[in-house]
Amino acid sequence: MVGNASDKGTTKTRSRSRKGPGATVVTPVATNAPRPAATVRTYRHGLGDCHLLTLTSATGRKFRMLIDCGVILGTTNAQAKMSAVMRDVIQESGGTVDVLVATHRHWDHVSGFVQAADDFARLKVGQVWLGWTENPRDPDAAPLRKQQADALAMLQPAAARMHLAASAEPTLLATVLEFFGAAGAATTDGAMDALRAKGGATLRYCDPKDEPFELSDFGARIYVLGPPRDEAFLKKMLPAKTDRDETYHLAAEAFAASVAAAAAALGGSDEDQPFGGPYRIPDVVARSMPFFQARYWVDEGAGEAWRSIDLAWMDSATQLALMLDNLVNNTSLVLAVDLGAAGVLLFAADAQVGNWESWRTHEWTVGGTRVVVDDLLKRTVLYKVGHHGSYNATLRKGGLESMSGLRVALIPVDHNMAVKKRWGDIPLNTLVAALEQTTGAAGYVLRSDALPSAQASARGARSTDLYFEVTVD
Ligand SMILES: [Zn+2]
Repeated sequence: MVGNASDKGTTKTRSRSRKGPGATVVTPVATNAPRPAATVRTYRHGLGDCHLLTLTSATGRKFRMLIDCGVILGTTNAQAKMSAVMRDVIQESGGTVDVLVATHRHWDHVSGFVQAADDFARLKVGQVWLGWTENPRDPDAAPLRKQQADALAMLQPAAARMHLAASAEPTLLATVLEFFGAAGAATTDGAMDALRAKGGATLRYCDPKDEPFELSDFGARIYVLGPPRDEAFLKKMLPAKTDRDETYHLAAEAFAASVAAAAAALGGSDEDQPFGGPYRIPDVVARSMPFFQARYWVDEGAGEAWRSIDLAWMDSATQLALMLDNLVNNTSLVLAVDLGAAGVLLFAADAQVGNWESWRTHEWTVGGTRVVVDDLLKRTVLYKVGHHGSYNATLRKGGLESMSGLRVALIPVDHNMAVKKRWGDIPLNTLVAALEQTTGAAGYVLRSDALPSAQASARGARSTDLYFEVTVD
């Protein structure tokens, strides 16, 4: 809304008061035509997601939705941090959220429900929303869950053996398995159970075929975009090899590709490699690295061959764990909150390429009008960036390039932790640059590991040590 204090003829006025550091309370006054006002509070507690969405009706009533509440395993003082987040959610919401969403079963999205169990017990919840993949009675979900359980059962002892075989450094396999809470006393299963058992809450398993959730008093409706039903989409994590420009590029990708090409020229084929380029150290490079020189070619051909077999075994276990991890990301429940004239808020969770691609075939009929996802993307004003800004979780075409009206991009990330966890380039520089360019004219990009820029603050971003807050109206 653009206006000034002396607006004539408007039926809508706003009063603002400040309560505490950085917390702006926006109180709308009744209007004839309901006009949505949305506030998104994104917590800055570490590498993980927690967002509190508040909608306000024309009469001042509030609708609150909490999307995820978790932080990556290995975070210092995680329990205290998640308790602080949960207490703030309770204070801000008056102790009740209408809808609680857990987008997918990864520790960095659900840990708070067990780490802050005492505070969570005080939060009243109207409905719990999970993706259809979490429905134990869904015939498509059952085989997925079994595959996942079987793979985990295989990988957990493998991780322990690998830890013994390798070094004091956590292996990539171990860090990947941590998403499932496998290395902690509390588990991701435990967090999901805590959600399902939330006292008084109705459980909804969301499906893209569902009718949009109507919030007519708030001038809003909520569409489910993912997780996809089609297994081919569900299992597609990366851009097609024939369409490298489907996502933003890894800064190091060109280098990795040239190294892979060199390795291929020496006789290795890309197709039979267990790892994609970014995860692979070609033989020719490994031979120049002290770690491998000391361990793998010490006395080649004289009783040391078992080490290579060991390496192959570790590669396939790690590869399986990465696939499992990406598959769970792709079960992300993706929501588009349509605020009518005020635009659309897109919460993409950790959706990867196939999840995004599946949205193209969705359509709904609302009030006699056909709605497709591209329309929602074109009207998107706020985008919760997919998967902490990784390279395969924001599509270009049919994704960010459609969001021509984007004003705010929120990236929940902690770059230093991502480096420690060996996640690589997170957030991806080229993606951040594209987000900055897209929002540049009137908006801004917020990443939770940094304070808002002066321009973002001037354009309305509010922040404390604990959260960012953005108002859309
Ligand atoms: Zn995540």
